[in-house]
Amino acid sequence: MTRSEMTSRLADHPGPWDMIVVGGGATGVGVAIDAASRGYDVLLLEQSDFGKGTSSRSTKLVHGGVRYLEQGNISLVMEALKERGLLFQNAPHLVRNLGFVVPSYDWWQAPFYGLGLKVYNVLAGKYGFGTSRILSREETLDRLPSIETEGLRGGVIYYDGQFDDTRLLIHMVATAAEQGATLLNYAPVTALTKDADDFIDGVIAHDAETGVEFCAKSKVVINATGAFSDNLRRQADPSVKPIIAPSQGIHLVFDRSFVPGDTAIMVPHTSDGRVMFAIPWHNHALVGTTDTPVPAAVLEPVAMEHEIDFILNTAALYLAKKPTRDDVLSAFAGVRPLVKSSDANNTAALSRDHTIDIDQSGLLTICGGKWTTYRRMAEDCVNQAAMLGHLPEKSCQTQHLKIHGFRTNSEEAGHLYVYGSDAEKVRELMKADPGLAAQMHPDLPYVGAEVVWATRHEMARRVEDVLARRTRALFLNARAALNMAPRVAELMAHELNQNESWKARQIRSFNETARHYVL
Ligand SMILES: Cc1cc2nc3c(=O)[nH]c(=O)nc-3n(C[C@H](O)[C@H](O)[C@H](O)COP(=O)(O)OP(=O)(O)OC[C@H]3O[C@@H](n4cnc5c(N)ncnc54)[C@H](O)[C@@H]3O)c2cc1C
Repeated sequence: MTRSEMTSRLADHPGPWDMIVVGGGATGVGVAIDAASRGYDVLLLEQSDFGKGTSSRSTKLVHGGVRYLEQGNISLVMEALKERGLLFQNAPHLVRNLGFVVPSYDWWQAPFYGLGLKVYNVLAGKYGFGTSRILSREETLDRLPSIETEGLRGGVIYYDGQFDDTRLLIHMVATAAEQGATLLNYAPVTALTKDADDFIDGVIAHDAETGVEFCAKSKVVINATGAFSDNLRRQADPSVKPIIAPSQGIHLVFDRSFVPGDTAIMVPHTSDGRVMFAIPWHNHALVGTTDTPVPAAVLEPVAMEHEIDFILNTAALYLAKKPTRDDVLSAFAGVRPLVKSSDANNTAALSRDHTIDIDQSGLLTICGGKWTTYRRMAEDCVNQAAMLGHLPEKSCQTQHLKIHGFRTNSEEAGHLYVYGSDAEKVRELMKADPGLAAQMHPDLPYVGAEVVWATRHEMARRVEDVLARRTRALFLNARAALNMAPRVAELMAHELNQNESWKARQIRSFNETARHYVL
């Protein structure tokens, strides 16, 4: 999977595509996999790097959503639980089964949440991850050694999925490419083209690396731009009403001592009526999230002071060791592409279901939903797109389609487990050049071979691509990532045949982005 191969596929493509997908997050790449595996001819264009938008900024849960159960949205929960099961089956190297404990400080909490979580188990049916049960105080402390002990009565344990969002996304890009899709990062779509009947028949985009503009024709254009969906909808028809209600959520990352052990904490009711998670992730503790309506989506959102305070204060209620700003290793923000509803007065209450909208000009927009349900969203979207484009009917192939790197016992590979069957190839790079086997920072496990691998085989083009989305350095420890930037730039410059001024520009640009992750 190289960018030059993708640009050649694009240049050599005869006639119109069956489908062009705009947006390279979970939704767009999911659509590209679905369409290509049915045998449609598909091009995906991403303005920045794959996953630069919301899809790198999730809570890293593959879940049915306990909260939606409480809201009575049974069909959404059942669909998501089924998708959780399918993803675990198709990408076992990237999804793991994690225990979550809801700690109880009131007599009614354990029976109440115990019952709700039993329903969660039942809804999962054959896709279940494990049976929930009520825990004694001692069992709770055993699982959560860092929990606040004052007033603790016990808890309830249940099981859900956890993943690494952009590692999965990169493996999905590879899967789509293997199925025949053409996918290009750093290729913003700037306009839509229309035929004589005013029907959309293609896009104008440019290659941000060469500056060359190109026009690509297609039978259907799919808008999978997430929180940015209304921008493209307005390009198609300036009079459309917006459908996205963007809402920001942030996470704070701490060292492992805040959530030691292998169990996550789930707080079902924070003071603003949301759930809060404290999760062990890549040997760190990830705590979040918030739900703050924002006027518009931006590509690099920044955590707001009141959100940071809210997470620190809420975490302090449940953790024996109270986290402070000085303990924060990384603070990252993301924007939910929630679909507007006229009768909802806060974004936490808005539906997490997905929406497919086809406007008068034939632009198909797929938005909303969540990471967990990307496969189902893609199936619905491609069904609609095939009808819209008068394409031959072909059935969905993704229920049992293995994601690139599929491997069942990948934990044996240590921190390289996220590469699945590619881990062996990364190791070969380390063996061939021991300089590439050295850790790039003492606080993070990443080695030089991963930079080389990402640049050669995973379409990483910039230092940020490697530090934020191929490895997760920026999201785990922003200061460490800043320290790693010169070494990453050096290795990438060698691979990409770039000079000193490229390196300097890359480091400057990464520093500018990363400083927002440091408190
Ligand atoms: C704080 C938070 C926590 C979450 N946690 C979870 C969770 O634990 N589990 C879960 O299942 N879901 C979770 N979600 C939801 C999930 O992350 C999103 O639903 C999903 O990532 C949306 O993916 P997307 O592809 O629709 O959008 P995005 O990932 O934003 O992708 C859209 C892409 O379109 C590109 N784009 C925009 N305009 C153009 C253009 N003109 N040309 C080309 N490209 C363009 C953007 O650069 C972007 O990369 C969470 C969301 C948030 C915000």
